[in-house]
Amino acid sequence: MRLEQKQAIVTGGAGGIGRATAKALAAEGAAVAVVDLDGEAAEAVAAEIRDAGFTAVAIRADVSSEDDIVRVVATTVAEFGGVDVVFNNAGIIRRSTALELTADEWDLVFGVNVRSIFLMCKHVVPVMAAAGGGSIINTGSGWGLKGGGRALSYCASKGAVVNMTRALAIDHGPEGIRVNSVNPGDVNTGMLRDEARQLGEDADAFLADAADRPLRRMGEPREIASAVVWLASDESSYVTGSALVVDGGGIA
Ligand code: NAD
Repeated sequence: MRLEQKQAIVTGGAGGIGRATAKALAAEGAAVAVVDLDGEAAEAVAAEIRDAGFTAVAIRADVSSEDDIVRVVATTVAEFGGVDVVFNNAGIIRRSTALELTADEWDLVFGVNVRSIFLMCKHVVPVMAAAGGGSIINTGSGWGLKGGGRALSYCASKGAVVNMTRALAIDHGPEGIRVNSVNPGDVNTGMLRDEARQLGEDADAFLADAADRPLRRMGEPREIASAVVWLASDESSYVTGSALVVDGGGIA
């Protein structure tokens, strides 16, 4: 129970990585607010956590909306009494080059992947600072560190996540707030199937390609969740501003 007495917000909590992480944080003792654009799916995850004997609420929200973020933070404080951990994880991808992408899609990707983190930090940092600190974990991507093909807005947005994580860590370290990014390689979630669909490729072949790395398999959501639990817990008490890569060896 590494997170006993802690309160956590998980965005994109109904998706593959978010659901696994919400469950893992709860199993370590945290009360979890499961936040997602898909309110029904978020409620299903929260119910699953409660059925296992832990504490969770669901909040339907669009993370790119400031009004929604203000409501998420206020609801979590009202339900649980504070916020110690935030996992800024909601994300979307558009598999497009600059020539294929529209300006509106660029804004959409940056709204969900980048603006959301700024807004969450703007409204949650005062709550954490008043309580003496906290841990914020942002989902970047291997492609935020090294780039990738036909995903311009996604690569740019995840590069922004990695560097804004460092900037946030510098600004808010003195208040006892640690900010780190976790950067997955290919993980077996709905996002990969969505990518195959966008590229017009067969989903099975696309998933098989994703296993082409030193460990010869894709990652599973729980393997990202384990890294997030560690960054959320006091076991990582001297780690801030870091970009933790969890990708089965994407160097090859
Ligand atoms: P997923 O599609 O299963 O989950 C994403 C979740 O975010 C969904 O539940 C979706 O409803 C939610 N969401 C989308 N837009 C939202 C919005 N505006 N407001 C609130 N919620 C919203 O995908 P996933 O693989 O679990 O992705 C989680 C994170 O991991 C994303 O940031 C993604 O970019 C990142 N990531 C995934 C992979 C991978 O291979 N799956 C690799 C690297 C990084």
